[in-house]
Amino acid sequence: VTESWNTARRGELLRELAGRGLLDRPRFLESAELGPLRKSNHRIDAAIEGEREVAARTVRLRIGLGERFPHDLPSVYVAELGALPFLPHVERDGRVCYVQREGVVVEASAPDRVVEEAFDRALQTIEDGLIGRNAREIYDELEAYWRELDGANSVPGYVDPNGPLRKIIVAFARDRGRVVFPYVADNFAAVSAFDPTIKRLTSEKIGLFIPLARSVLDERLDPRSFTDGDWVRAFVERHLTRADGERLRSFAASREELWPFVVLSVPRPQGGRSLVGLHYEQAHGGHPLLDGRAHRPVRPICLTRRDRRALLERGGAATNLGRARVAIIGCGAVGGHVAMNLASAGVASLCLVDPDHLSTENTFRHVLGRSSRGRPKAVAMKHDIQRRYPFVAISAEAKRIEELMTEPGFDWQQFSLVVITIGDVTVSRMLNENLARAHTAAIFTWLEPLGIGGHALLAHLGEELRGCYDCLFWDGDGQERLANRADFAAPGQSFTRDVAGCGSVFTPYGNLDASRTAELAARLALSALSGSVLEAKLVSWRGDPAAFHAAHYRLSDRWNVSASEPFPLAQAACQTCWSSG
Ligand SMILES: [Zn+2]
Repeated sequence: VTESWNTARRGELLRELAGRGLLDRPRFLESAELGPLRKSNHRIDAAIEGEREVAARTVRLRIGLGERFPHDLPSVYVAELGALPFLPHVERDGRVCYVQREGVVVEASAPDRVVEEAFDRALQTIEDGLIGRNAREIYDELEAYWRELDGANSVPGYVDPNGPLRKIIVAFARDRGRVVFPYVADNFAAVSAFDPTIKRLTSEKIGLFIPLARSVLDERLDPRSFTDGDWVRAFVERHLTRADGERLRSFAASREELWPFVVLSVPRPQGGRSLVGLHYEQAHGGHPLLDGRAHRPVRPICLTRRDRRALLERGGAATNLGRARVAIIGCGAVGGHVAMNLASAGVASLCLVDPDHLSTENTFRHVLGRSSRGRPKAVAMKHDIQRRYPFVAISAEAKRIEELMTEPGFDWQQFSLVVITIGDVTVSRMLNENLARAHTAAIFTWLEPLGIGGHALLAHLGEELRGCYDCLFWDGDGQERLANRADFAAPGQSFTRDVAGCGSVFTPYGNLDASRTAELAARLALSALSGSVLEAKLVSWRGDPAAFHAAHYRLSDRWNVSASEPFPLAQAACQTCWSSG
């Protein structure tokens, strides 16, 4: 039975719950009293107010139901927030954020149970706050609390959250009489690395980056204290390391004028750091963190973080790839996706090698689509990646790898990993031999015809050298083979250029097949770069063989072997890896 919900029915439910003793001295709020609650995101249209004893205090609370209830959770508010100490997970308007607690049950068939459950969790959140049980959680969400402080301003920040106390640059300008800060950065190069079109301002001042020690986490914090200059000075002093304290004094004593602007780097309990800014208006008598004074309350500055670490973390990318340099040999259908995947995953440096130009025929099978027609693939990929992602250094080599390899000064060991996506067996075997000799990790990728599958093979990792691309061309009985042992297509068949996927005939799912293979290769690459894979490894995907069968081609023995069966990669007859392993 679907019953319709309206304001009156929500009011009725609250009155009924109040009758059951949910709140002491309950009072139903009249429509005119709802004010800002009605205008909030939750559009509260029915609410009751009353009291409860929480951690030996009497706390005034409101329970509100919004227009979307029961499809939206009930809201619980602390009615007189100013009367209580600062509470984690309670918003400026008093709303208690209780959903961070595990297992909130939304059961639309029993709306009264939902309200009771929500209220219970909200009370628990308030109690944790009053007795300090969740005091550390403020440090997890410090940047969010900062945004809620009075007068908080947002400023683009290009500041690395790690490292010692140091000088930073603060650009300032006036906008209709108000001081604004177009950027705060470690240096202007950090701004350009994010967006090369940003212009450097001449009105730059010197501010300070101040990292606090982990001892700060033992202090129960009220973010509202940060507007009090004297409190901030004492707080910073308590949590500066000795070396940073000396740096602060020596910077303040130097003749260079320090602008009263600081960025605090505050550790988070689970690791990582929050960045928050403070601007002292009308400071005088020295630096406000030493002996100076500020006339007005300190203004909180929120950093819109554009440092590499923050952007990668928020995007789910890895932050530990800052020194990885990966070469991608071939920027075709597979290579284009591999390059894009690795850039978005946080690989700091790429070298793209491909002599070909993008043609109209590439339109539907290349990650660049129709754009960049007529340009060298390597160069077009470089520009497209740099337009999308900051902090990635790319060199484009519009030439064959055989040519690049023979250039003076070329060294495979400049790369942490080489990904080969050219699909040409002869060149791949030649590269395999060179990479084995150079002890440089490599991933070989190839795609099979008509969507039956794709492969990525990781080899030449660290000390364990056995198992390589050449091993795929040797049998257990020591015989060399013409066909790759891992292929899903049976040997001895000839595929036309069109069927093999390099020609111009329409191949079903061509681009999806390429991107699927590229994804396998990219995941394997990230595992290798992060050290979570330590030996040679082949990964394959199997597609739908319908089109392959329809064209009267035959599948290989390997196709019929279960995917969970380990593939015998390393071969004693292999001339490249076995004897050296
Ligand atoms: Zn081998």
